[in-house]
Amino acid sequence: MNIVCLDLEGVLVPEIWIDFADLTGIDELRATTRDVPDYDELMQMRLAVLEKHNLGLPDIEQVIDRMQPLEGARAFLDGLRERYQVVILSDTFYEFARPLMRQLGWPTLFCHKLGVEQDGRISSYHLRLRDHKRKAVEAFRALNFNTVAAGDSYNDTTMLGAAHAGILFRAPQNVVDEFPQFPVVHGYTDLRARVDEALASMDG
Ligand SMILES: [Mg+2]
Repeated sequence: MNIVCLDLEGVLVPEIWIDFADLTGIDELRATTRDVPDYDELMQMRLAVLEKHNLGLPDIEQVIDRMQPLEGARAFLDGLRERYQVVILSDTFYEFARPLMRQLGWPTLFCHKLGVEQDGRISSYHLRLRDHKRKAVEAFRALNFNTVAAGDSYNDTTMLGAAHAGILFRAPQNVVDEFPQFPVVHGYTDLRARVDEALASMDG
């Protein structure tokens, strides 16, 4: 029995914060886990910048409503879900992901939650569980699933390491160089082939 764990941003949808930075012209919000591996440091910086510019959840939702999954993502995901159980493991927040999840056909998503004040100001963020991607994969293994995980960033590498097979998808060169143990693919056809291959080798 097989389960595929996918990162969200950079794998199925664009980087939400980067699109938000483009619209508002706030360059500080372009940083992602690709640039700042320490997630808490990154989030505290983002919240401080939002506060400084007096930007709340409605502003962010406006941007996300106009975003679309990456080209081919929906078809890839649908095809994968026909054959395997699929769970998306992301460090984004349910409030941000919802419009994109609708376009992806409401796949299962494990992520985090924002603390939003009545005036829309984002006052805090709540990590459901630290390093939850890795822990989810470990839990699926404990439930006797064969596991494959794919992601593009630093915050995916522990989940890739915990899975029976980990795959880097369109990862930046610094991540590729630092984690040479993981194969790298650049398109959905190749990703699907790697997933099929990895799980076929475990089935016997
Ligand atoms: Mg990502």
